[in-house]
Amino acid sequence: MRLSLYIHIPFCRYKCAYCDFVSYPLLKEDIEKQYVDRLLEEIDWWHQALPDATLYTAYIGGGTPSALPLSLLEKIVLKVRKWGGPVEFTVEANPEDISRDWLSHIISMGINRVSVGVQTLSDELLSAWNRKHTAKDSIRAIEYLASSGINFNVDMIYPTYLPYGISMSFRRDIKTIVAMKPNHMSVYMMDIHEGTLAHALIRGGKWGPVEEDILYEDMVWLYNFMGDMGYHHYEISNFALSGYESKHNIVYWYQDFYVGVGVSAWGFVNFVRYENVPTIKDYLQGSIQRKHEVVKGKDLLTEYGLMALRLIGEGISRFRWERLGGDWSILISRAIDMECVQITDDRLFVKDSPECIMLSNSVIEEMLEPWL
Ligand code: SF4
Repeated sequence: MRLSLYIHIPFCRYKCAYCDFVSYPLLKEDIEKQYVDRLLEEIDWWHQALPDATLYTAYIGGGTPSALPLSLLEKIVLKVRKWGGPVEFTVEANPEDISRDWLSHIISMGINRVSVGVQTLSDELLSAWNRKHTAKDSIRAIEYLASSGINFNVDMIYPTYLPYGISMSFRRDIKTIVAMKPNHMSVYMMDIHEGTLAHALIRGGKWGPVEEDILYEDMVWLYNFMGDMGYHHYEISNFALSGYESKHNIVYWYQDFYVGVGVSAWGFVNFVRYENVPTIKDYLQGSIQRKHEVVKGKDLLTEYGLMALRLIGEGISRFRWERLGGDWSILISRAIDMECVQITDDRLFVKDSPECIMLSNSVIEEMLEPWL
């Protein structure tokens, strides 16, 4: 069995205004050390439970993995490599942590991909989002990444709400970053979740929504611009130079199996989805998984449809849909009059045009409505 591995590092130096992930302020080093020891045990446990599995990709995400001391990061990487050398081994990093020295250490450990959370090049926005790096830090980090030769992704956020008085720098930021030729870029819409500082600021009237027309025009511009610059728009939020599509993320979108380790991590192994405990206290005390669910029948089919339709130009394969018990003719009958859906003999997908991609969420929902 081919397997991927996700490793969650829940520590951050600060809490971003929009973030609702499980993250803890960097605690005392002994807590981080204990946490990493538990992670190593969990990886061992899975390795023993799945002796025939070959590790395909590994991803250390967070939180802020780059905030971990290198000695602890190295312990994790060595444990993973003992299981097998993943073809793609990614670590997430914040710009302020990326130095030439840090990069040469992680490359020598065996990590071959970095995903850097730049988010915006507006210092005003970074400060409003409570991020502690500047645009200058991000530019320097990208220059280091580019000159090191490592495969790297840049994460950006489109602000769906803006603090009053701060203007948008989105198009200029994208142009600046693309000029530095990352292999991969992700551009996510900012989601506002209850309980976050952003949510409170919106409710308090300090941040206002970006007009829908502006958002639409910016996205159409983005899709066209990235295409003109040679990037393959292969998933709604993801762009890659040819051959640099994220192998790890494709595992999730294809419903392939992956193990998730660490606090609040999820995994999907042999059609069982599990979720780990959400608090570091429970995790350190040794209770790990708290929920299991066998994903089968209609749920598996629906999940496949929802994920596959996000993959631009790929979409739903007839073979796979039918193998999962889906009725192809019902699906076709729903899609036949939809302007934004293309149907071939063996596939059905959202058309690769900026306008259709912008509408993809509602197209997907409408098409899969009988299965939702
Ligand atoms: S660095 Fe990432 S995980 Fe940490 S608070 Fe910010 S968005 Fe959340």
